[in-house]
Amino acid sequence: KTRVYRFGDKKADGNSKMKNLLGGKGANLAEMSRIGIPVPPGFTITTEVCTEYNELGKSKVIPLIKHEVEEAIRDIEKTMKTKFGDNENPLLLSVRSGARVSMPGMMDTVLNLGLNDVAIEGVIRKTKNERFAWDSYRRFIQMYGGVVMGMKPENKDDEDPFEEIIEHLKEKRKIKLDTEFTVQDLQDLVYDFKDAVKKKTGKNFPTDPWDQLWGAVIAVFNSWNGNRAMYYRKIHGYPADWGTAVNVQAMVFGNMGTDSGTGVCFTRDAGTGENVFNGEYLINAQGEDVVAGVRTPQQITRLGSERWAELAQITEEERIASYPSLEELMPEIFAELDGYQRTLEDHYRDMQDMEFTIQQGKLWILQTRNGKRTGAAMVKIAMDLLEEKVLNEKEALMRIDPNKLDELLHPIFDPNALKDAEIIAHGLPASPGAATGQIVFFAEDASKYKYTILVRTETSPEDLEGMHLAKGILTARGGMTSHAAVVARGMGKCCISGAGALKINYKSRTMTVDGKVFHDGDWISLNGSTGNIIEGKVATREPELSGEFGELMTLADKFATMKVRTNADTPKDASVARNFGAQGIGLTRTEHMFFEVDRIKAMREMILATTVKGRKHALKELLPMQRSDFEGIFEAMQGLPVTIRLLDPPLHEFVPHQLATQKELAEELHISLDAVKSKVAELDEFNPMLGHRGCRLGNTYPEITEMQARAIIEAALNLKEKGIETHPEIMIPLVGTVNEYVEQEKVIRETAESIFTKRKNKVNYSIGTMIEIPRAALLADKIAEHADFFSFGTNDLTQMTFGYSRDDAGKFLPIYLKKGILKEDPFEVLDREGVGQLVKMGTERGRQTKPHLKVGICGEHGGEPSSVEFCHQMGMNYVSCSPFRVPIARVAAAQAAI
Ligand code: PEP
Ligand code: MG
Repeated sequence: KTRVYRFGDKKADGNSKMKNLLGGKGANLAEMSRIGIPVPPGFTITTEVCTEYNELGKSKVIPLIKHEVEEAIRDIEKTMKTKFGDNENPLLLSVRSGARVSMPGMMDTVLNLGLNDVAIEGVIRKTKNERFAWDSYRRFIQMYGGVVMGMKPENKDDEDPFEEIIEHLKEKRKIKLDTEFTVQDLQDLVYDFKDAVKKKTGKNFPTDPWDQLWGAVIAVFNSWNGNRAMYYRKIHGYPADWGTAVNVQAMVFGNMGTDSGTGVCFTRDAGTGENVFNGEYLINAQGEDVVAGVRTPQQITRLGSERWAELAQITEEERIASYPSLEELMPEIFAELDGYQRTLEDHYRDMQDMEFTIQQGKLWILQTRNGKRTGAAMVKIAMDLLEEKVLNEKEALMRIDPNKLDELLHPIFDPNALKDAEIIAHGLPASPGAATGQIVFFAEDASKYKYTILVRTETSPEDLEGMHLAKGILTARGGMTSHAAVVARGMGKCCISGAGALKINYKSRTMTVDGKVFHDGDWISLNGSTGNIIEGKVATREPELSGEFGELMTLADKFATMKVRTNADTPKDASVARNFGAQGIGLTRTEHMFFEVDRIKAMREMILATTVKGRKHALKELLPMQRSDFEGIFEAMQGLPVTIRLLDPPLHEFVPHQLATQKELAEELHISLDAVKSKVAELDEFNPMLGHRGCRLGNTYPEITEMQARAIIEAALNLKEKGIETHPEIMIPLVGTVNEYVEQEKVIRETAESIFTKRKNKVNYSIGTMIEIPRAALLADKIAEHADFFSFGTNDLTQMTFGYSRDDAGKFLPIYLKKGILKEDPFEVLDREGVGQLVKMGTERGRQTKPHLKVGICGEHGGEPSSVEFCHQMGMNYVSCSPFRVPIARVAAAQAAI
C-alpha cells in the first residue's frame, strides 16, 4: 500500500480524484503539477495514515512511512537542487494539514522547517540576506514551538511566551514594529526563544531536520482532534474518521525582498459571483501576513484596485503610490498568473481560490481549490457556467448546496430605512447581507443578546463559535481574504472587514469612531454588500430574488419528480410559500389559529364546558373564525391542494396556568375560580406527547371534529360559489388503530353530506391520515382500505420510534452528538436506518392496498435535503416544508431525481 504520494516538476503520483485519500489540498497539488502549473515540489502523507496513527500511535506509524518519506525528500532535493539540513544550500519545508474538505485555519501548519544553526548559514549565503534568514528562523521556532512543542497557551487570553519575549525586546529597544528589529535583535530572539522552550518543556529545541519533520507530521495528525477542528466538524457535520492528510512541500519565500510577494486570488467574485478575476497580495511577505490581516493587502487587478480605492476613500495618487495592483506593479507576473487562473478554472470547471508566492521574480502556485462562496455567488456561478456551456443542466443543478439557498431568502435592509441611516464608517464588503444587532467584543459574548454583532480588531479561528452565533461580523483590520471574511462567506454571514476608522478597546469594551464612543450592547447595523457601518437599528425587508435564482428554480422543476408543498397555517404564510413556488399545502395546523386573543377565549369556553351542549355552544363561536381562516388559505392557494389537519395538541396547552389569568377566565365565563383550577388540574398529564391529543381528542369530543369539518367544507363551498376552485384534503392526526380512523371519517362524511344536502351544492374533498405512530406504519395496508392519502408526520414518528420526547431531547441529544452515539440529530435529518424502515413499510403496505395512494411527508424533515432525497427514493408524491425552505426542497428534489 502506498502511503506517500509525490508531486512536483510537472509530474505527480496522485490526481484530483483522490481527495478522500490525499485531502483536497494534496489532490489538487498533484493535479496542478500534472497539468503543468508550477507548484513547489513535495509529497502528501495520506489520510489513511492519520487513521492508522489514531489507532496505532506514533511509534508504530513512523516506521510504516519512513522509507517512502525519505525517498520523497530526495526527489524534492533533486528538483530544488537543495539538501535537507545543508549548510550550503538547505532545503526548507512547509508542513500543512489537508482534509478532504477545506477547513480554513482549523488545523496547524509549520513553515521554514529544516532550519537550525547550520542551515541558517546556508540560507544567508544563498539569499545574501541575513535579516530574512534570521527572521525566518525565529518565525520557525515560534511556529514549531507553538504547534509541535505545546508552547501556545491553551487559553487564548493567556500571554503567548514568544510574544512576551518579542514585546519585552521591543520595549527595551524602544521600537514598535517587528520590521524595526536589527539582525542582532532577531538572533537574540532565536536564542531567547530556544531558552523559553527548554524552560517550559524541559526539552531542547530539535536541531536535526528529520526530528523536526516527524514532530511536525505528528502535530498535524494531532490537530485533527484539536478543539477548533472538532467544533468545525461538528457544525458542518463532517465525521471524525475522515482524518487529515499531511502535505510536505519545499518552501518558497515571498519575503525575499521587493521582487517577492504572496497573495490569494479568486477566478470569480466569491461574494457576488461576478465573472471577474480578483484577489489580494502583499509585497515582501509570507502567506500568513495576508490572511492574518495585519497589513492592508493590495489588489491584484487594476480594476479591483480602483474599486477598492473608491470604497476606502483613497485618491488615485495615493493608490498608485501606496497600493498599486499587481497588474500595474509586475505586469509579467500578473500575465502569467492570469494565464494560470484561466487554465485552472477551465480545468476544474468551477470557481477557484488560489494561493501564490513570488520568490525573487519567479511565480509559484501554492494551492487551488473550489472557492468558498456566498449563496448568491453559488447560484450565479452555477447559472453562468451553464450559460458558458462549461456545465450541462444536471451538472449546474448538482453544483447547488440546497441549504445555502437559505441565505438568499433572508431579509435585506429596507431601502427607505437606509435613506435616513447614519453611516458611521466604511469597511470592505466582505460577505453580503444585512445584519442589525447589539455590539459584543468577544466571541464568548455572541449569545449575550438576541441579536449580536461581533466587533473585533481581527478574528482568529478561536472566534469561530462566536462568529457562528452572531448576526454579523465587523473587523477593524484585514482584507477580503482575512480569516473573518473567508469564514463569514462560508457561513453566509454578513461581514465587514478592514474598517480602519474603528478604534477598538477590548478592556473598556468600546469602539470609537471619529471620536464617538460605542459600548457593548449598543445597536449597530452592517451592510455586508456595500461595507457601510450604520448606527442603530435599520429595518429590513424581504429580498428580491435574482434572475439567476428564478432560472435555477425553473431548472429544478424540470428535473424534480416529487412536488414540493408547504406547511402553512395562515393565508400570509401560504402566499409567501406560493411565491417560493410551493405546489400546495401539505399541512395546516388548525390549532395555531386558536391562539389569537379573541379565539382563545372561545376555545377555553369549549374546553371548560361540562356538557356536550355547553361545548357545542362554544364551538359555534369558533366555527365562523375557522371558516374564514380556511377561505383565506384556499384563496391564497388558488386551486392547489390544501391539507388541513384536525385539532392535534393536548387541551392543556390552551388553558391558563397562572392564577391571575385563571381568575380573569373565571370572571369572563361566570364560573368559580375553583372550577377553572380543577379543570386545569384535570387536564394536566404526565406525558402529554403520548396523552390526550391527536385523533384521541376528536374521538372523545366528536363535536370538535364536526365543527372543523363543517368549517372546511363550508369554506370550500363558499369559494366555489365565488368561482374559486379548491381541493381540500382533511387529515386525521395521530392514528394508531384502524377504528380510530374509521370513527373520525364517519363524522366528517356525515357532516359533509348534511351540508351538501342543505346547500344543494357539493365540493370534492378527500380524507386521509398522518402516519406518525409506529403502529400506523405497521398497519398501513389496513388503514389504506379507508384513507385516501397518507402524510408521514416524521416529527412524531421519530419521537415514538426512538422513544425520545420531542420536548426533552435537548437535554441529551447534544451529548449524544458530541460523543458520536448519534451521527445526526434525528429530528433534523431523517433517520433512514430506523424511522426510514417504517416510512418504507408504511408506503409499501399502503400502496399494496391502493396502488395509487398519494403519499407525502409533512414533518420538519420535508425541507432537509438528505431527507428529501430519501422521500424521493421512497416514491413519495410530495414533500411539505416551511415556506422559507420551499426553494431548498425544490432543488433537493431535483438533485434526488438526477
Ligand atoms: C409530525 O408529527 O411530524 C407533524 C407534522 O405534526 P406535529 O409536528 O404538529 O406533531
Ligand atoms: Mg405530529
